[in-house]
Parts: sequence; structure tokens; C-alpha cells
Amino acid sequence: CGIVGYVGHRQALDVVLGGLRRMEYRGYDSAGVAVLDGSGALTVERKAGRLANLESELGLADRHEPGRFTGTAGMGHTRWATHGAPVDRNSHPHRDSSQRVAVVHNGIIENFATLRAELEEAGVEMTSDTDTEVAAHLIARAYDDGPTAGDLPASVRSVCRRLEGAFTLVVSHAGEPGRIVAARRSSPLVVGVGEGETFVASDVAAFIEHTREAVELGQDQVVVIGRDGYDVTDFRGEPAQAKPFTVDWDL
Ligand code: GLU
Repeated sequence: CGIVGYVGHRQALDVVLGGLRRMEYRGYDSAGVAVLDGSGALTVERKAGRLANLESELGLADRHEPGRFTGTAGMGHTRWATHGAPVDRNSHPHRDSSQRVAVVHNGIIENFATLRAELEEAGVEMTSDTDTEVAAHLIARAYDDGPTAGDLPASVRSVCRRLEGAFTLVVSHAGEPGRIVAARRSSPLVVGVGEGETFVASDVAAFIEHTREAVELGQDQVVVIGRDGYDVTDFRGEPAQAKPFTVDWDL
């Protein structure tokens, strides 16, 4: 339902929770966050119910332990369940079995049952009832082996080409704390361009307290964000044009 991703110079958890709060008006049944700490740790917390439940689960004291929600890249999601009950284990972010890849998703992956059967055939154990989880496993497998090995944007693009339905996806890999990859088909995705920080979101509301310089992604596009900007391609990896605009409404 609501998606936000961040790479920059601030504590990502603060930015992500602030963004989720600004999208609360859309309604949701669960919420979750992932933070990359820069040394290879990817920490996830997710909780059914209100954002306040997630925030109390996060425990402000704990986050200052090294590696626990300390880091300048991260993502968050508020879920409106379509596949799987609104319970903790179905909340986003979803991860692959190695817990190195984290994915949040808006929309519906129509062919998830086929993809899920294929993954289970290959021995992958599913931990949720969502359509989303297949994307995390497929991206991790594309990253670990084969023609897109070690290339996160290429891994995301190759998986997007296999997905049917409507999706906004935001993807992180524990080993790549400096960038986040996002993709869209028939579901909104905007980039927010700041000074030494970049955002992705399903709604500009998630980042307008930080920047009003936005870029609207087109159909079947992938964006890679880093501290110093963003790069847009289509699902085949060809450079693509996205539409810059300035958000001119008041908070
Ligand atoms: N289909 C996904 C799920 O049920 C995403 C729902 C949403 O857009 O929040 O988990």
C-alpha cells in the first residue's frame, strides 16, 4: 500500500518511519522496515496492526545497539493484504532464505503460484502466504548464480520480466548498502532527489518534508538510487527517460 526507500546521510529508520506516517491516511493492516548498516547487516522488523505497534516493537533503546537499525539506507512498507492474512509473517519486507535480500511490494503478482511451485520444486522453503515472497527468492537466486550474478539491478530486471500483474518493488541486498533498486509496472513509483540523499516512494507524501524535487517513473522502469542520485532503465537495461517535476503543494 505505502512504500518508501532511502539512501542518504541520515538515519534511515527515522526517514522511513516518517514517510510511513505520512502515508498512513491511505489505510493499511501491517507495517515493516529494513535497515542496511553498511557492514553487511540487513535488519528487519515487521508487525501486524498500526505503525505504533511496529514502533514499540522496534524499541528506541535497542536501535542504538550496533547493527540494529543503525544505518543510512533502508525501506519501509505499510501493507494492505491481498494474499495472506494480515499477520506478522505476511508483513513486508520479505526476505530470501539467506536473509540477504529484502523486498517490499505494492500490488499483486498474478503468476505467483507458478513461480512459488517452481521455487518449492528447487527446494526453497516459503515463510509466508504472500504473492510477494517469490520476488525475494527469485532476486536472490538471480544475484547468486547465472548471467546476472553479483549485479543487483540486473537481477531485479530479469525477475521483473518474469512477473505478471501490477507491482511496485523496492529491493535491497545486505552486501550493497550504498544503493537500493526499485521497479514498477502498473503501480506508482516516484523518486525524491535531495542533497546527498535520494528517496523512492509510492507517493510523494513520503518524502516532501525532505525534498520537493521528484521524478515519476514510467511503465516497466527500474531505478537505482544512491546518495548522489539515481539511474533509470527499462526492464531490459536500456537507459530510459523518467519525468522530473516539482511538488508544489503545501504540507
Ligand atoms: N500483494 C501483497 C500482499 O498481499 C502487497 C499488498 C499491498 O499492496 O500492500 O502482501
